[in-house]
Amino acid sequence: MKCQRCGNHDPAWFAYDPFHNNYYCRKCIAFGRMNVDEPPKAGAYSARVVAASYELKYPLTPSQQRAVADIAYYRRQGRDVLIYAACGAGKTELVMDSIQASLREGKKVGFAISRRQVVLEIRDRLAKAFPMINVVAVCEGHTQVVDGDLIICTMHQLYRYPQTFDLLIMDEIDAFPYRGNALLETIASHACKGQRLYLTATPDETMLNEVKQGKLAMVELFQRPHGKPLVVPRIIHTLPLFQLWHCARFLRQRKKAGIPALVFVPTIADAHRIQHLFRWLIRCCAFTSKSTEKEQIISDFRAGRYDCLFTTTILERGITIPGVDVAVLYCDHAVFQEASLIQIIGRVGRSQETPTGTGLFLCRHVNRQIKRCVRAIQKMNETKLPEKTVKLNEAMSVM
Ligand SMILES: [Zn+2]
Repeated sequence: MKCQRCGNHDPAWFAYDPFHNNYYCRKCIAFGRMNVDEPPKAGAYSARVVAASYELKYPLTPSQQRAVADIAYYRRQGRDVLIYAACGAGKTELVMDSIQASLREGKKVGFAISRRQVVLEIRDRLAKAFPMINVVAVCEGHTQVVDGDLIICTMHQLYRYPQTFDLLIMDEIDAFPYRGNALLETIASHACKGQRLYLTATPDETMLNEVKQGKLAMVELFQRPHGKPLVVPRIIHTLPLFQLWHCARFLRQRKKAGIPALVFVPTIADAHRIQHLFRWLIRCCAFTSKSTEKEQIISDFRAGRYDCLFTTTILERGITIPGVDVAVLYCDHAVFQEASLIQIIGRVGRSQETPTGTGLFLCRHVNRQIKRCVRAIQKMNETKLPEKTVKLNEAMSVM
């Protein structure tokens, strides 16, 4: 017995239904009932040839253009590509060319992301970039319309699309809940019948090994559009009490300069406790997965009604706040893995107007994860396209 949707073949996960005299899979029951040996219904979604073309607010930089050309090359070969791009390097812009080309060929295109909040953000961005086509977001609370020219969805929602996509773009594959989740991985592999593009700023060992073995092609982009290097964090290691003192000093300086600040702490309890402690010093708020008015808090923070947010790793990805500085308290805590720390520091210096900023790591010991994060950022900053190559490429395009 095997479930055609999630690939499960462990008998313990199958249940017998005496009324219909068949077995069904309990492993993926959350996505609706699936009988054994019943193939998922494919082909319910229409694809049409669309004269799509995209418009960008800023033109692509030479290094972005080079990455786009590389991706197009692998697209023609039909190879899956890992797009390894630094935070804020413009990953989404890199795949627009592939989306455009696929839509023009009448292919079905999907864009899957781990988190719901980011689905809505990407939908808005792509709808703006592709004004001529119908872009739909499919996630919790947005499931009335599930078909369109371009489908943006959470990884979970991919169960709706068996054997559907000719091009499937998967963003934040190293993030919860996709990472290490065999069920979601199987559902994703069933949703795509063509090429896959993986986007990440922090690929894990498994992916890099696949690149080494030649199963995956890789395209790298470490330069941000404004050309300034990634911010390397300043590290202060001291006792927890002194960490709080340094944090207070950091926040007072930001307040004086009118710079918004994000302070990352390990747990939800820490966020609330420290927010209470700092209330008398600055206008601040705690933002965690338990916060009820998430969208309101973020829009208040963007509008400058708070000087600082105390938050957990929930805000490590996806969010762009122009000109923000970040600090991490108790940075040697186990929740702050290398990938988390790279993402957190990646919040700084993202916009054209404020390309630099400050990142501060406060810890008791400088552990392995912190060291690896700093090393990875330094490596990305060193990896730059030699001037000569750019000129050569430009010369070739003129020819
Ligand atoms: Zn199943």
